[in-house]
Amino acid sequence: MYASLADLARIGGGADGGVTRVAWSPELFDAYAWAGERMRTMGLEVEIDSAGNLLGRWSAGPVGSSAVVVGSHLDTVPSGGRFDGALGVVAAIHAVRVLKEEGFEPDRPLWIVAFMDEEGTRFNAALFGSRAFTGESLTGLGDRMGTDGVSLREAMAAAGYELDRAGEACRVGRVGAYLELHIEQGPVLESEGVEIGVVTSIVGLRGYRVRLTGEANHAGTTPMGLRRDALAGAARIALELREAARARAETTANVGRIAVEPGGANVVPGLADFTIDVRATTVEGLGELEHLVVESVARIAAEEGLGPDVQQTFALDPLELDPALVSAVERAAAEEGASAMRLPSGAGHDAMIVGRHVPAAMLFVPSHRGISHSPEEYSSPEHVELGMRVLARVLRSTLRTDG
Ligand SMILES: [Zn+2]
Repeated sequence: MYASLADLARIGGGADGGVTRVAWSPELFDAYAWAGERMRTMGLEVEIDSAGNLLGRWSAGPVGSSAVVVGSHLDTVPSGGRFDGALGVVAAIHAVRVLKEEGFEPDRPLWIVAFMDEEGTRFNAALFGSRAFTGESLTGLGDRMGTDGVSLREAMAAAGYELDRAGEACRVGRVGAYLELHIEQGPVLESEGVEIGVVTSIVGLRGYRVRLTGEANHAGTTPMGLRRDALAGAARIALELREAARARAETTANVGRIAVEPGGANVVPGLADFTIDVRATTVEGLGELEHLVVESVARIAAEEGLGPDVQQTFALDPLELDPALVSAVERAAAEEGASAMRLPSGAGHDAMIVGRHVPAAMLFVPSHRGISHSPEEYSSPEHVELGMRVLARVLRSTLRTDG
């Protein structure tokens, strides 16, 4: 497993130790060739679908029986780590190899998948492949420009794909279950000393852009009681959301970007333009946060004499993973002798798209210091191997169940 991950990391590997395989790039397709060759050697039927998803299919069971899909993604952020996404695909290949070597005969088909553009850093079109796989129309994203001045439509064409045909990749109707092994990308498992994370839910999030308008004025002559300080209002909102998130379970709030105008050391800020990102693992929790954002911005703006403008820029609902599959992962971990705990995922994954259509489960292995999207990303050989073995056990049980 570890040698495979090191081998794969050479494709798109940089001098800083990071890996760069952005969506639709030659490096990503080189990684597809690497994984495709390994799947073909095991007797799988390999193809890249019209949305750029790599699939390796092991046909089995009666005609029409639903497939168990296992995988993740092979694309990375610029100078990302070697485990994010890659682990799930490499582990799926190794788990299937284990099953093949022991002569296991599935009762239903098994598909290994690497979804196109999970990360979304190039075109802000995250989860592109899984969205196409589940029937979401993506033609509206064609004009999204990458940082290199190439549009999504053009990048696809350069790789030999047509955006208007991405819809043909919709095959979720033939799928009965989805499994994904991933690194945690957070510090919880390591700090708890636990080997396997059994993911129960994937957070939903709401993104906002807020503009508070006050009055720019002289910093020395304007009395404190008469100021309409837009930055002070924004700061109060950020702190209030922080306290609210701290007081709740499995909830986060973040103000990640702020700009003030006119921006002089001796000028009261007349405008604050900032972002809010709130996340929760349940629909109710997210609804509460939505209300909180709108209410606190309105109230604090009124108290500070500011004009508020709130726009929602992003919305993704939380997903509770399938209870039966979650229990199957937990059982598999116990049978493998691994310590395990249930936890939510604070990051988005392809499972949150596929899991809205079919039963889905995820498992995590620990990330050293919780670092991800960085050359410093690290998971130990022992944890990586254990994750693969637990995954193989879950596959044995799900492939025996008639879908
Ligand atoms: Zn990932």
